[in-house]
Amino acid sequence: MAEKPCQCSDCQRFYKEHDRLIREFPTFKQQQELNWASIQSFRTLCTQVTNELQRQLSEKDLNEELSSEEKHISDIEISEALDDLECVNAYLYSIEALMERIFDTKISNRIESKFKKIANELSPDPLNVDRLILNRLFHQTPDFPDKKNIN
Ligand SMILES: [Zn+2]
Repeated sequence: MAEKPCQCSDCQRFYKEHDRLIREFPTFKQQQELNWASIQSFRTLCTQVTNELQRQLSEKDLNEELSSEEKHISDIEISEALDDLECVNAYLYSIEALMERIFDTKISNRIESKFKKIANELSPDPLNVDRLILNRLFHQTPDFPDKKNIN
């Protein structure tokens, strides 16, 4: 029997998000676009923050107009964050190069139907009536009085 997956709150949030992404983006093409947009948005944000921190570090001595919030970040903290972000940006750049290769693949409509069918099996609509009934049954089971505890 397969080991029961971890049920900590982080993992549960991950399972929920994982299922939602399958449910809402059930085709190969949608997954391509979703992942591309996701990497691009992550990269855009990291790059902008990196630029901003670099500017802040280089202008710190000269600039008297820094907001009080900006003054609270120490030079060391900025330098460390810049090192980390530059690594992350390099990784994201590599992932982007790989994603471009994935984008070269085109899938026929017949195979796309297969994707939709499997996606629906993996992650059915949580508001679907059958699913709601099934969930209610699952959630009721642990509530049944356990004979061992009654004595
Ligand atoms: Zn966990």
